[in-house]
Amino acid sequence: MSAPLVFHPSANIAELRESATIAVSQRARALKAQGREVIDLGAGEPDFDTPAPIRDAAKVALDKGATRYTAVEGIPPLREAIAAEANAHWQGEGRYAAGDVVVSNGSKQSLYNACVVCFGPGDEVLVPTPSWTSYYEMVTLARATVVEVRGDPSRGWKVDVEMLARHATPRTRGLMLNSPSNPTGSVYSPAELKAILDLAAARGWWVISDEIYVRIAYDGPAVGALDVAERRDNLIIVNGVAKAYAMTGWRIGWTLSPAPVAKAMNAFQSHTTSNAATVSQHAALAALTLGAPVESAVTAMVAEFKKRRDAALPILRSSKALTVLDPAGAFYFYLKVPGAGHDAGAAFCTQLLEEHGVAIVPGSAFRTPEWVRISYAASEAQVVEACRRVAALADRMAGG
Ligand code: GLU
Repeated sequence: MSAPLVFHPSANIAELRESATIAVSQRARALKAQGREVIDLGAGEPDFDTPAPIRDAAKVALDKGATRYTAVEGIPPLREAIAAEANAHWQGEGRYAAGDVVVSNGSKQSLYNACVVCFGPGDEVLVPTPSWTSYYEMVTLARATVVEVRGDPSRGWKVDVEMLARHATPRTRGLMLNSPSNPTGSVYSPAELKAILDLAAARGWWVISDEIYVRIAYDGPAVGALDVAERRDNLIIVNGVAKAYAMTGWRIGWTLSPAPVAKAMNAFQSHTTSNAATVSQHAALAALTLGAPVESAVTAMVAEFKKRRDAALPILRSSKALTVLDPAGAFYFYLKVPGAGHDAGAAFCTQLLEEHGVAIVPGSAFRTPEWVRISYAASEAQVVEACRRVAALADRMAGG
């Protein structure tokens, strides 16, 4: 008999690192299963239940037979609702239509679809840094090259046109954007966003604009690319129901893009997953179209996130050993922690979890290893208690 086959990862994934945001919560879950008390502020997942009218609509859809395949790109009424919502923001030429929309199993899949069809070997993609961990891996899986563009920490780590232009080469093919931002919570102003979109349009870059947190903003509504862009032929807007409607487990995301890009993503998705879960598409349709009963739930959830932010931020700020950004959107605190060495954030997170029972994500996941991310999508009591432990550990480390 021949020797057992030894697994050597293929060249496709030789460099791949597991998602740190997911890994942190898995570790927290494992510790809880062993009986440890852990406050999990790792993965960014709203702790609310999906609003009841959405759940009810899904039950009705199931009873009406929403149990079979749909078109790969999704059910027509959902795609029409997504296009209609986009048209409420897009005032330029060319209305959006269902043919510009591809529904997928979560905005993560939509981002990956977009990277694969727009970028390839030899292309460079500008990634404002810090950015959500999966952008770096998705661009790499598309066999393109990540070009990190480090933002300005004194401006919430945001990038501007000069920084982007400085990193551009003739091989630059696109740009990842995310406002409100994961992990920083920063929100680009209309003028900042427009300047970046103008640059991208002038240079002929694809812009993949991840707007999954656009409804979660605390100083007035956040703008999306369609609110300020002059043209839309280079824009791929990514969104979904997970964060704003507390629908993470339903797995519904989508892209709005020029129709040829949609067609390519559709062809790609037809080989990877086919359609997103049928019942989940009906739930997403309810989220987008039921109006007042759902909207009031979204408003209440955003108000609750703000309350938690306002309760916990002064606790973090009370520690002189921490540098804490002002989060204006999403549900993350991003902070620089004390400690020597280039992976100080990871060391801090390990100590915080193992000795103080709080799970948060090291900034190395977002390519800023001296920082850490705290998700405040948990109860106010948990967030406040966890931030007390973070501040206390930071003070102790800085003190000696
Ligand atoms: N996007 C969320 C986060 O950053 C959920 C987990 C993930 O998909 O990365 O925590």
